[in-house]
Amino acid sequence: MIFDEFTIKSLIRPVPGFPKEGVTFRDITPLYQSPRAMRMVADSLIQRYVESPVTHIGAIDARGFLLGAVLAYELNKPLILFRKAGKLPADCLREAYSTEYGEAHIEVHRDALKEGDQVLLLDDLIATGGTFLAAARLVSQLGAEVYEAAAIIDLPDLGGSRLIQDAGIATFTLCAFE
Ligand code: AMP
Repeated sequence: MIFDEFTIKSLIRPVPGFPKEGVTFRDITPLYQSPRAMRMVADSLIQRYVESPVTHIGAIDARGFLLGAVLAYELNKPLILFRKAGKLPADCLREAYSTEYGEAHIEVHRDALKEGDQVLLLDDLIATGGTFLAAARLVSQLGAEVYEAAAIIDLPDLGGSRLIQDAGIATFTLCAFE
């Protein structure tokens, strides 16, 4: 299916003041409710990575999980969950990060990745970049490498994608809101 950025952007609902004053939340639930738009997003990502050396899909809690599952299925790759603190049951590594809303922690199972693995990190959106950078630190602590950090949306004014690139990690996003 041909990717149509206008359709994708029209299905991302701005919610000013959520979850707190000064933040405009970019709500992707209308996009997930559109099979056609969801297929466009998934197909674009599948096309981009089908011939790549990616060995694992690293999906970020929680909206990244939905996209991550589709990609892991279609690309036939293991799906690795990067979860908010306290959710993963087995032995974990943990990293702290800050977002537009405050401080948080992200975790991954210690046995999820190993040296030589090439991880595609996936989330719905890049804002300050803190989440992706924390996930990338976990990937490298496990001896693996981030192949690329991909999201549906970039908020370039918040500088996250630039920060991630400055850390030596390629980013890929399907649309941006200035
Ligand atoms: P950051 O770590 O600042 O790049 O924030 C990215 C993470 O926080 C993603 O998991 C997003 O789902 C969420 N997030 C941050 N800002 C927004 C926003 N304005 N609208 C929707 N989600 C956001």
